[in-house]
Amino acid sequence: RRETPLYIAENCTQCMECITACPDTALPNTAQDVSTVLKTAINNYVSSPDDRKKLIAAIPEIDAAAREKMKAAVEAKQSLPFNGIIREQVTALNHGISQKAKDELTTIMDLLPIAYGNVPAIFRSIEKKSPGEGGVFMIQVSDLCKGCGECVEQCGDHDALRMVPDTEELNYKLTSAQIFSRLLPDTPQKYLGLYDDNSPQNSRPAALRNHLMVRRNYEALVSGDGACAGCGEKSILRAVASVTESYMRPLYHQKANRLYEKAAQIKTEGAKQLAALKAEKPEAYELFKRTFAHIIMGLGGEDDADTAKRIAAHGEISDDEIIGGLGAVLNQDAFNHIKFQATDGRLDNGLSVMAMGASTGCNTVYGSTPPSNPHPYPWMNSLFQDGSTISWLLAESLLLNHARRSVAPERLAEMLITGSAKDISSTDYWDLTHLTET
Ligand code: SF4
Ligand code: SF4
Repeated sequence: RRETPLYIAENCTQCMECITACPDTALPNTAQDVSTVLKTAINNYVSSPDDRKKLIAAIPEIDAAAREKMKAAVEAKQSLPFNGIIREQVTALNHGISQKAKDELTTIMDLLPIAYGNVPAIFRSIEKKSPGEGGVFMIQVSDLCKGCGECVEQCGDHDALRMVPDTEELNYKLTSAQIFSRLLPDTPQKYLGLYDDNSPQNSRPAALRNHLMVRRNYEALVSGDGACAGCGEKSILRAVASVTESYMRPLYHQKANRLYEKAAQIKTEGAKQLAALKAEKPEAYELFKRTFAHIIMGLGGEDDADTAKRIAAHGEISDDEIIGGLGAVLNQDAFNHIKFQATDGRLDNGLSVMAMGASTGCNTVYGSTPPSNPHPYPWMNSLFQDGSTISWLLAESLLLNHARRSVAPERLAEMLITGSAKDISSTDYWDLTHLTET
């Protein structure tokens, strides 16, 4: 890259146009409390533990004084950079804080592009409603930027992004800001406005673009950064991946919590329910056991006779095995939905929420090949333009696997917990083992 976009925080309105248009994962962004930014800087950039303690104690003082300056600047429509305001407050501090510590803090703060003046949804409006609560917005141009200039075009008259020659000095500043941003927590909900990260479906469509302020959504597609931007494919894939992540992840977590609850119920009530079923309806008990053996234990065969042979060959299945097995499968599936972490570098948050399939082409090339494949989703290379066939097979396999390890076990657990297992019929057995409606 020969030119890089330079972010001019004072001009930014947080319209998100650049962030939605960028084909790469090159404009990570967030809104934060002023105190969070200060705390992160102090904890990670001030070397003396004693000075750190004193500076942390002084945060409310810096925050309050800085806030007054920020409000006055907004009121007067004056462009007063955030870093300068902080520098002034930190320099004026006493409390026996060493000059070295003040320099360490102001040096990192000077490298951070932070907006507050023209981002009313983050600072002015919140501050007006709840004094002391208004925050700051920042965009970091990351080293994944390929210098295509699309963001600058989108920003247009806002003039908050300008293409400038790529220099060592600029890269030092951008990299420092990027490293700092990784130390921050994710954007709190209060800065996401009418986009609700816990239930995106209830968000205002106009606020949906704010889903890209949440790190897990922004980083939903991490491969292909730097790829040719010619046909615009990369921007579309990134949009599909980030929106799917934002909508599906809360559902995955809700499901995980539901499964944990059912596993706990099976543990406490399952044995009693099973004993009652055995005593009251022995045929239903046998059918329930057979269904468990078929699906959970994997003893299902080619046909009924084959299944019966395989179950007989396995030997007696005890009630403890049924209860323990159901609980283990539910707990494992809950873990997979909320805790599973397939790759290094991001927090555990559950398994992938989507898969992609395509004919051989750009995305399969820039996606590279396993095991160095950077896709966080299952990926394969299909040669003869048969992408739709391969994708359909992928989808079928995922559905089948999901039905076996997730849907059918949960339904069996539900039958036992609610007592409806006494009504289990051969149709239920067929549906559960053949997954006709999953
Ligand atoms: S120049 Fe291109 S790749 Fe870089 S941040 Fe802007 S849109 Fe993204
Ligand atoms: S940099 Fe420009 S396009 Fe991006 S959010 Fe700010 S004003 Fe909008």
